[in-house]
Amino acid sequence: MAGLYIHIPFCKRLCGYCDFFKTMSLRHCDDMVVALKREMEYRRDFFDGDPLTTIYIGGGTPTVYDPQVLQGLIDRAVELWGDAELGEITVEANPDDLTPDYLARLRQTRINRLSIGIQSFIDRDLQFMNRRHSAEQAIECVKEAQRAGFDNITIDLIYGVPGMSNEEWRRNIVTALDLEVQHISAYHLGIEPGTLFGKRGVIPVDEQTSEEQYLMLHRMMEEAGYEHYEISNFARSGRRAQHNSSYWHGVRYLGVGPSAHSYDGACRWWVESSIGGYIKNVGSDVIYESELLDEADCYEEYLMLNLRCAEGVNKREIERRFGEKRLKELLDLSRRFVEAGILIEEAEVIRFDRERWLVSDWVISELFGE
Ligand code: SF4
Repeated sequence: MAGLYIHIPFCKRLCGYCDFFKTMSLRHCDDMVVALKREMEYRRDFFDGDPLTTIYIGGGTPTVYDPQVLQGLIDRAVELWGDAELGEITVEANPDDLTPDYLARLRQTRINRLSIGIQSFIDRDLQFMNRRHSAEQAIECVKEAQRAGFDNITIDLIYGVPGMSNEEWRRNIVTALDLEVQHISAYHLGIEPGTLFGKRGVIPVDEQTSEEQYLMLHRMMEEAGYEHYEISNFARSGRRAQHNSSYWHGVRYLGVGPSAHSYDGACRWWVESSIGGYIKNVGSDVIYESELLDEADCYEEYLMLNLRCAEGVNKREIERRFGEKRLKELLDLSRRFVEAGILIEEAEVIRFDRERWLVSDWVISELFGE
């Protein structure tokens, strides 16, 4: 199993909360396509014989490109790595790009999963976040995508937005459920220093509001029959995000494009965050930085990723991969969280109580040990 991530670093407008690498200048769009294909060629040995199973085209805003250009990127990947086991092919899309004509042409490509960045169904909050679409456009584009024949759609939502009441958040969830999409990702608004919100000094909501909105989300989604399978992700049966699941489960993935990350089980790479530098130097090692993971890094990563998934960490797997001492350390350090009802210990696994996932970052860091 192996996944390919393609980063498209262009956006027509910058959203207030966004921390991804992107630019509003579209003048390098054509050069970027050439460069991305060249990088794939340069990294052709990365998968070391593992079959390509998923492709995820993200960004940025991939839908700045015509569907045929996106298909061209997929074609190049298939030429290099084959498609015998290639299943899920996702593209991230902004609602205002998804016109009926665009969707019809997107359906003619091999893309079989749409990830639509809706964020909110409240116009006031969309404007606050500097999104390009309206609530009405958000609803219409999902319906239009369904009419066009897309049967694997995920939408993104954001909670913990300053000024959004719990009742408004409840209505956002109800609207999302009414659309009957296969998958929903919902993230708490983060205010990072380099973002527009960070620069403007936007104040985060208080902890109680975060917790109330998280719990409302968890309970309403599960009542509606979605599986809460990762801290921020909910899926209908059989519709978990395969590409993202491979990140969480340590599957090898290659990321191409400026700022993209790769992982091969032992080492992490990341590409420089510069459009000009990338286009000029792609096809050489100059654009990469890398980090060899030692035992402690691998262990921390294993805990961090698996405790954020519903299945949790497997005790035998920890013993097999990291030794008896690590398992004993984890059992000791997790005891107080098990007693507090935050973690649940079963015969084979330790996992979060899903109602308590919101505190996961803090709890996991307490479990890292020496
Ligand atoms: S959230 Fe998406 S559309 Fe908005 S600036 Fe970030 S990458 Fe671009």
